[in-house]
Amino acid sequence: MPSLTRTPPFDALGNTLRVGLTGGIASGKSTVADYLSRYGAPVIDTDHLARALVQPGSPTLQAICATFGNSLLQADGQLDRAALGALVFNDFEARRKLEAIVHPRVEERVLQRLARIDAPYTVVVVPLLFESGMDRLMEWVVAIDLAEEEQEQRIIARDGLSKEQARARIASQLKRSVRSARADCLIDNHGPPAALAQRVLRLHCDLLNRAQRKRRDCTAL
Ligand code: ADP
Repeated sequence: MPSLTRTPPFDALGNTLRVGLTGGIASGKSTVADYLSRYGAPVIDTDHLARALVQPGSPTLQAICATFGNSLLQADGQLDRAALGALVFNDFEARRKLEAIVHPRVEERVLQRLARIDAPYTVVVVPLLFESGMDRLMEWVVAIDLAEEEQEQRIIARDGLSKEQARARIASQLKRSVRSARADCLIDNHGPPAALAQRVLRLHCDLLNRAQRKRRDCTAL
């Protein structure tokens, strides 16, 4: 059920139903967002926002270097994402510090984008939606669900990682059962892409209905 904490004021965040889309690594977030975007939904991808935030010379990159050192910079001033990833992957405290720098800034950008959107619903793709607390900004949360064995195969096929590396990535994220329990709705991504496309079309229709109800409720106030 939707949480009562996920109800910030309607007019502060734009004229659109705020839909959080989350799921484990390689569960299919980008694929689902891409389908929904083809149906006309605006998509805000927080991974893209986070990358844009750490451009050379940016305040976010400066804050990261102030915390973790300039050795994370490449010769051209770009953030060495692989080195940062390796640094925080097994170090909970380092990861917490990095998230404390990046998450609030990403959240600020998301709010700025949402405030400008006028569309029935907007998809906000957030891999760490619950971990970052950004679920509280959403009115409806969709989680993509996938069995871990299948997730493992898709990580290996897409990213060229070993089985052990894929397993470690999965283990570092929120457990599937916890994510599923906290979401308002699940999209099963087991099976071929054509099956997913059918489920996403139903999701799109459902989101349009929810958006319509929100507009009705808001104009009735
Ligand atoms: P995420 O954005 O959650 O990391 P992606 O959407 O990139 O995941 O999907 C991970 C990989 O799995 C991609 O290579 C994608 O093409 C593939 N994929 C997604 N859905 C399916 C599916 N139903 N069947 C087979 N491959 C899929």
